Amino acid sequence: MRRGCYLFLSKSSFNLGVIHSARIYESKLGHKVEIKCSEMNIKFVLRFIMLVILGVALNSCAPKKSEDCGFVQNVYGQRISWKSSAPIQLYVSNSVPAALKPAIQRAAASWEQTLGRKVFEVIEENSSQTSTPSRDKKNGIYFLSQWESDRKSEQGRTSVYWAGDEIQEADIRINSADFSYYDQNQEQLVRAASNKTSAGYNFEALVLHELGHFLGLKHREDGGTVMAKELGAWANRTKLATVDAQSVQCEYK
Ligand SMILES: [Zn+2]
Repeated sequence: MRRGCYLFLSKSSFNLGVIHSARIYESKLGHKVEIKCSEMNIKFVLRFIMLVILGVALNSCAPKKSEDCGFVQNVYGQRISWKSSAPIQLYVSNSVPAALKPAIQRAAASWEQTLGRKVFEVIEENSSQTSTPSRDKKNGIYFLSQWESDRKSEQGRTSVYWAGDEIQEADIRINSADFSYYDQNQEQLVRAASNKTSAGYNFEALVLHELGHFLGLKHREDGGTVMAKELGAWANRTKLATVDAQSVQCEYK
């Protein structure tokens, strides 16, 4: 086998100098020094390597996509949730009738029992001024006697504000303009402001659903979930299904 060395060179002007030096070595060493010029430009190779390194670096910086587990996800496919294990404050507006307030406590307790820890700090507002939902860094639940005329079929709505994958604030609005509610006793209806509805809706079931949104869950329809979009009149959907427990445990446990 012929001895020789292989030099991969860029096509730059100093190549000629290298070739000339190689010829001198050839004469001194008594064997041929082979110079193999690469077709690829070294600058191009370096640029390519830099791009690969940059690509790997950017990829490792990108947020990791996670299983949705029934949660709303951000643009990177991460579940959005309250990342802190500290209880989340929830202010109960004084617009909520006293007869319905215990239902909020029970709905919160249902999620907490499933997670085996305190999740909510439910605080009853005692100010004489009735607060209204707004992005005010305060999580609230509001019983509203006015509701958009084009969304009359909606019993409640939870607005969740997040940054990155972390919820910053959430507000629950209850439509008391178009629906009548009861807590445990169907005979004792808290009548809708319009007083046109004869059907009653289980307030605990509604709040249980809205608290699911509050925690970051989205609608689903399987396994008897409380996160199903529709809540029928007189439906006492106050127990979390196995799928609901699995969802929240996926993120909060
Ligand atoms: Zn919903």
